[in-house]
Amino acid sequence: MSRKNKDGMIEPVVSAEALAAQSADPYASMLSRFHAASDRLGLSPDEREVLSRPSEIHIAYLPVAMDDGSVRVFEAYRVIHSRALGPGKGGIRYAAEVNMREVMALAAWMTWKCAVVNIPYGGAKGGITCEPKKMSVGELERLTRAYTRAMSDVFGPDKDIPAPDMGTSAREMAWIVDEYSRLHRGNYIPAVVTGKPLELGGSKGRVEATGRGVTTVILQALQRMDRRPEGLTAAVQGFGNVGSITAKYLSQNGIRVVAISDKTGGFYNENGILIHQAIQYRDAHSGFLEGFKGGDRISNEELLTLGVDILVPAALEDQITPQNAPHIKAWLIAEGANGPTMAEADPILQDKGITVIPDILANAGGVIVSYYEWVQNRRGHYYTETEVQDRADHTIKQAFDDVFTRAAAQKVSLREAAYLIAVERTVRALRMHGRY
Ligand code: NAD
Repeated sequence: MSRKNKDGMIEPVVSAEALAAQSADPYASMLSRFHAASDRLGLSPDEREVLSRPSEIHIAYLPVAMDDGSVRVFEAYRVIHSRALGPGKGGIRYAAEVNMREVMALAAWMTWKCAVVNIPYGGAKGGITCEPKKMSVGELERLTRAYTRAMSDVFGPDKDIPAPDMGTSAREMAWIVDEYSRLHRGNYIPAVVTGKPLELGGSKGRVEATGRGVTTVILQALQRMDRRPEGLTAAVQGFGNVGSITAKYLSQNGIRVVAISDKTGGFYNENGILIHQAIQYRDAHSGFLEGFKGGDRISNEELLTLGVDILVPAALEDQITPQNAPHIKAWLIAEGANGPTMAEADPILQDKGITVIPDILANAGGVIVSYYEWVQNRRGHYYTETEVQDRADHTIKQAFDDVFTRAAAQKVSLREAAYLIAVERTVRALRMHGRY
């Protein structure tokens, strides 16, 4: 909810206590959007009950031998939200802040994401509470193998297929496929996980897929708004897989990326950040931008409210809040991260006339190419990079058109339209499965 104050500024009508409670709970943001779509679609109480909860939660405490000879126990999760449309699908997050409610939200978003882009998967997500940048390669390998052993009955090419997320990459996926195959009498089972290195059955185009998809939907939106990309400016929060690759593609399309950031803070350069230089710097400095000389220092909070045309939050959940939403100046937001906007900020952005391309559509490029990787593994036949990119571009453009058309027809935001499509497809499948 929002209202205008005496100065005509839009401000939230939410208490500080309520905000504190909400900010800690991305699952609440997910649920409020799910229930809004359910109201419009007329879901039965039973259907709501089923889809508002995860179908399975697995927790493991993983003892890992550390390099100094001690043993540390790590808390690890895998949540399956729904298998109505196919096997569970979703990444694994390694981060200090990982917690159960977050993984539950991320799993549900995977259900809606796969449904909105029409690929035959349900939704799942995994997470381990750890600090990967402070661990050695050996410690990370032992942790990943322990997780795979603990989840060996949960994972499976027809049950639940993990992939990389924050803090994990092709390297961890390689350890998972190796450990899982050993646990299955040495049968090589590459389709159990996607985002693998090419040598182990990965797909061409997977590493770049999410950032490429974010850029594709931005260009689609601009086309619908009759705007050309050349000369527009953008700010990108988060400079990992999604943020850096989105920034690279945006600048290749003539959009000036004037600000970037990561966990250590941000950088602003009105002439445009040289993205290839920033990527080189990050790769040479343990994955961080700290000390980068290509722009003036700014904070992550400042980045979000810069006077740019396009804002791409590509780091964490709950970055756009009812407090900072009134100060956002971008007129187009593409959610590279999952859940970067709190539900309570949605109406504020809408009142300001800001177009938001929602996470479940904007960042779906990764899971689309993950699906192709799984198909290639199962067929034993591999596509060229151009084939992968053409298919992925087509799929995400089609999904964008579906969402845009639905939004116009029902006079709702792109986010509401995406949820309507996703919940509708999922609930139809649920009905076809029959009584539970
Ligand atoms: P990553 O680990 O490669 O990068 C994360 C980036 O965010 C890093 O630059 C990190 O420093 C930065 N960051 C962390 N905490 C921050 C903070 N408090 N403020 C600002 N920056 C911060 O992760 P990724 O794969 O790029 O994922 C980023 C987001 O995109 C996540 O929400 C993830 O779920 C989502 N996502 C990823 C993919 C994928 O294919 N990798 C697909 C869909 C969605």
